[in-house]
Amino acid sequence: MKQLPYAITLDPGTSVSNMTGSWRSEKPVYLDRIPPCNNTCAAGEDIQDWLLHAEEGNYQAAWQSLVVNNPMPAVMGRVCYHPCETACNRGQLDEAVSIHSVERFLGDEALKHGWKPNFKASSTGKHVLVIGAGPSGLSAAYHLTRLGHKVTIHEAGPMAGGMMRFGIPKYRLPREILDGEIQRIIDMGVTVKLNTKADNIEHVFKEDGFDAVFVAVGAHLAKRVNIPAHQAGRILDAASVLRDIETGAEPPQLGRRVIVYGGGNTAMDVARTARRLGVDEAMIVYRRSRKEMPAHDFEATEAEEEGVLIHWLRTIKQIDETTFTVEKMEIDEDGRPQPTGEFEELEADTLILALGQDVDTTFLDEVPGVEIESDGVVQVDAHMMTGRDGLFAGGDMVPSERTVTVAIGHGKKAARNIDAWLRGSSYDPAEKHELAEFEKLNTWYYEDAPKTQQPQLDVIRRQSSFDEVIGELDENNALFEARRCLS
Ligand SMILES: Cc1cc2nc3c(=O)[nH]c(=O)nc-3n(C[C@H](O)[C@H](O)[C@H](O)COP(=O)(O)OP(=O)(O)OC[C@H]3O[C@@H](n4cnc5c(N)ncnc54)[C@H](O)[C@@H]3O)c2cc1C
Ligand code: SF4
Repeated sequence: MKQLPYAITLDPGTSVSNMTGSWRSEKPVYLDRIPPCNNTCAAGEDIQDWLLHAEEGNYQAAWQSLVVNNPMPAVMGRVCYHPCETACNRGQLDEAVSIHSVERFLGDEALKHGWKPNFKASSTGKHVLVIGAGPSGLSAAYHLTRLGHKVTIHEAGPMAGGMMRFGIPKYRLPREILDGEIQRIIDMGVTVKLNTKADNIEHVFKEDGFDAVFVAVGAHLAKRVNIPAHQAGRILDAASVLRDIETGAEPPQLGRRVIVYGGGNTAMDVARTARRLGVDEAMIVYRRSRKEMPAHDFEATEAEEEGVLIHWLRTIKQIDETTFTVEKMEIDEDGRPQPTGEFEELEADTLILALGQDVDTTFLDEVPGVEIESDGVVQVDAHMMTGRDGLFAGGDMVPSERTVTVAIGHGKKAARNIDAWLRGSSYDPAEKHELAEFEKLNTWYYEDAPKTQQPQLDVIRRQSSFDEVIGELDENNALFEARRCLS
């Protein structure tokens, strides 16, 4: 059966079950519906559009379409948890299109060939300060530049990238990829001042003369927990361990056995990193079961493949030098972990806390109008503006899901709102079209086309090196994968 390049969308109620009768003579109707992938991408990509260019083998046009919304496709194709694929209609036929792997292929092609984003913008004469060079700040800087504004970023750290560099390990995001995509943003004319910590917001408005400010300082304060300890051994926090490895500081002395406490992506990453640093036993202790963990299932699977042992349904009750007393837990009917009164002992030289991070908002405490929630995040309105006129915020420091994709999406949304605010108007996005749900598609003419799998590094090398674990698709596979799209 021949595969057509696009699906015909029928009016609701039109039957396609027997393909006989009036169906044969009816003309197809073109309806503009939003595909579920576009609808779920927090970076707001027009996936349907760039996949169409990729299907035609026009990779540069595909990449240009992609970077209208997302400045870092090579990064996103690696670290995004790709909710677009969970929503993909093809998943109901056989398997979802591997959107992220095609995105990564396009991102890598752009770096290889030195493609630059095409845009024309005349200077507005406005100067915007971005605080924090994580994904949210970099995305805001990129989009503000595309809109004709001059942008300066003040970054407290010694390198740009935020948690993409100081959190996500190299084996998931090689640094030459991250550096390449950051450099492309700088080459557009963005000034980045490193080792420049923002501490006085009113000063940057009144004395430095910035017209608007976007703050995206992330969440970097490690959460602590009180555990009764008699001569506790070494206790570290995950964010500092990962950061020290990146800055090239003395490698952390972890000993032979490590317990990581927590069940999120940071816990998985730090346990996998400990294995690569030569630790014999890397264990994770988490108080709930695999079903309730905040990490994605594939992250736990990859950690286990590398020899990380996960003790589900356990809390640490006491530490006595290298002996950890843990209590078994059970999940009650409300999904909460409850103690059982049963105890076990584990032996470890180091405890690494991976219990999440809080936002350091001390530099915003005195800014009039800024509201800080009880859990430390900063309140913004529908236009990403805080209670202080002209001060916008986004990324991990505002109430939302904490992912690179959301941070990049916030950067774009903030840029569009800042642009409107600077022009004395308001940014109101167009209403979304009706969703193209699977039931509304006519899919009878599609052939089975199994999803292309990305190659994986062998486990021995994964345990002993920081080489990238997941490999890329070659051109043939990327083209095949793009053509699996039903649109
Ligand atoms: C270990 C780990 C693994 C993760 N893995 C993934 C993943 O695979 N996929 C995913 O989507 N998400 C992942 N995340 C989450 C993701 O990294 C964050 O949600 C995202 O980086 C948030 O972006 P941001 O720009 O808001 O903040 P950040 O990335 O935290 O960047 C904030 C920047 O602001 C700077 N800064 C802080 N204070 C100041 C100040 N006062 N003045 C100037 N600069 C300042 C910081 O130095 C930093 O560079 C992971 C997080 C961690 C910790
Ligand atoms: S950024 Fe994430 S959600 Fe958006 S298209 Fe890429 S993989 Fe999908």
